[in-house]
Amino acid sequence: MKTKTEMGNVVEQAVPQLWNAMHRYNPEAQQTVAVSGDGAWFTDEAGNRYLDGVSGLWCLNLGHGQQEIVDAAAEQMKNLSYFPLIMSHGPAIKLAAKISELLGEDYQTFFSNSGSEANETAFKIARQYHKQTGNPEKFKFISRYRGYHGSTLGALSATAQANRRVKYDPGVPGFLHVYPPYSYRSIFGGEPEESDLKAAQLLEEMINWEGEETVAAFIMEPFISGGGVIIPSMKYIQRVAEICKKHNVLLIMDEVVSGYGRTGEIFGFKHAEGVQPDIVTMAKGLTSGYLPLGATAVKSEIYDAFKDAGKDNHFRHVSTYGGHPAACAVALKNIEIIERDNIVDRVRKLGKSKLGELHQLIDHENVGEVRQVGFLLGLEMVTDKQSKVPLDDAKMGEIIGKCKEKGLIIGRNGDTVPGQNNVIIVAPPLTSTEDDLDFLVETVQSVIGGL
Ligand code: PMP
Repeated sequence: MKTKTEMGNVVEQAVPQLWNAMHRYNPEAQQTVAVSGDGAWFTDEAGNRYLDGVSGLWCLNLGHGQQEIVDAAAEQMKNLSYFPLIMSHGPAIKLAAKISELLGEDYQTFFSNSGSEANETAFKIARQYHKQTGNPEKFKFISRYRGYHGSTLGALSATAQANRRVKYDPGVPGFLHVYPPYSYRSIFGGEPEESDLKAAQLLEEMINWEGEETVAAFIMEPFISGGGVIIPSMKYIQRVAEICKKHNVLLIMDEVVSGYGRTGEIFGFKHAEGVQPDIVTMAKGLTSGYLPLGATAVKSEIYDAFKDAGKDNHFRHVSTYGGHPAACAVALKNIEIIERDNIVDRVRKLGKSKLGELHQLIDHENVGEVRQVGFLLGLEMVTDKQSKVPLDDAKMGEIIGKCKEKGLIIGRNGDTVPGQNNVIIVAPPLTSTEDDLDFLVETVQSVIGGL
């Protein structure tokens, strides 16, 4: 192996020891070693600049270099460097109140460090809630095929993506999967809303067949993200919320990707009028990725079942770093900027006028469907529109690689379903300039146009 001195940089020696960074698509490819970031862009060790069209892992909502966030973290670390939430501290108290305000009803929040943990926390809360409210047999969780809910074993068991699970199965007992509202390939056919409502009906059938007295909760992303940007009709979300209520199944809304402005609402579920989830999980955009933080917000009716009062009813769940003071201070500043700079409006407007130009690609033979909500966009790639056969891995890799050569990072739903990893994902920082968005659109158009 070459040493740092011989190479003049750390690329060659960094990769063999750094497991996370093993490249999935092309093991021969030179690793990208980032050294600095600036707005929606980052620069690598060789001095190449790239527009980050997927906001890291859809988390860098406000882009790099927000000095106010950096200052908030530094100030907090100076004043109170760490404190466990078995007691409390100001930033966590303020942030929990702010989350409740943004959710639009009274919620109590339990902090952790990531999206996976936020979901694990939700599962434990759901089981304990039912045990303490007279339904001790309600333990099962239902999620949708193609949904993604995290990497830890419980969250992975809710993640119904075959390729991500196959090496780690069997998952945790009690996790069931149901057909998603994926109108483009739905077995139901017909108009999207009609086929989505049939998918909702399957959820109710499943609850009935399993016995509603055994089902604790249903978890969903409002818009399936890592599973290929699948955008249901809002009637689907409303219908699912009704079904959950009818059967006393808690509705857990996974807002890890869709929260904090990404979709043109502060939370994705707000697109579906009248829907108020029992539990909302979040991470990523909560801090714009500046520090790790996860949050599980539960409606007060649920929290009430955990009021201890000497009954040993409290939630037996501790997180050493969850709700770290610096992470909470960062989240508060992040939310302040989102509100002050009207980021949600910006996403709505530029999502339409700029990113929305990618809809023109629907005329291309290899583009089966363009799906978009705000700054979350997926291009489902096919060999031809009639057969809808997914574009093969080599071609998908070529698209991603060519964009990178031109200075644009985009994603794909890799590792999802065997033979169906054919959705290109675009989710730039919400602060991307208009020029950034023009560059992104032109680059994707020219690469796909040249196929
Ligand atoms: N839920 C969703 C919808 C996600 O996309 C992710 C991560 N991509 C997670 C949960 C897990 O988050 P984390 O990687 O922070 O554990």
